[in-house]
Amino acid sequence: MLKIKVSNLTNGRYDYDFEGKISDINISDPYEGNYKTKAVLNKFDNQIILDATTDIVANLVCDRCTKEFQSIITSRYRMIYLFIQNINDSENEKIDIIYLHPETDKIDLSEDVRDYALLALPMKKLCSENCKGLCPKCGKNLNDGPCDCHDEKIDPRWEPLQKLIVKNKLN
Ligand SMILES: [Zn+2]
Ligand SMILES: [Zn+2]
Repeated sequence: MLKIKVSNLTNGRYDYDFEGKISDINISDPYEGNYKTKAVLNKFDNQIILDATTDIVANLVCDRCTKEFQSIITSRYRMIYLFIQNINDSENEKIDIIYLHPETDKIDLSEDVRDYALLALPMKKLCSENCKGLCPKCGKNLNDGPCDCHDEKIDPRWEPLQKLIVKNKLN
């Protein structure tokens, strides 16, 4: 599980590799399969600084061509854990600091890994940077090749000029 034992941990740097089913940390759609989290923990006298990097495969739909595609989404975060005797819960929410009682045995990364993985999902989903999208006329996926409507396309800015030329020819 995504937990690190911190009791009796001496000061220094520790590296961890985690892998498990995403359902174990409450992640589902559009993610699938396993999560892989690398955690670097730096322990000091009264605090822990933790950097976590998580890779999970996501099933996404391209905004341009509506094709389904898979992408590995990487999310990163840094969390600071402070050991203090009297923990006041209300302070916990403003910044990424978690207060730990000095007797704390383990820290659980699951919720943070989940939250940051969900935040890492792209707003704009593209199957590739240069996805050509669908033809607005016939709906064909232009990544599979050009469609037949191609020649009829007239840049609307030239339309008045074209009409003028036709008119002049008629005169
Ligand atoms: Zn696309
Ligand atoms: Zn077309």
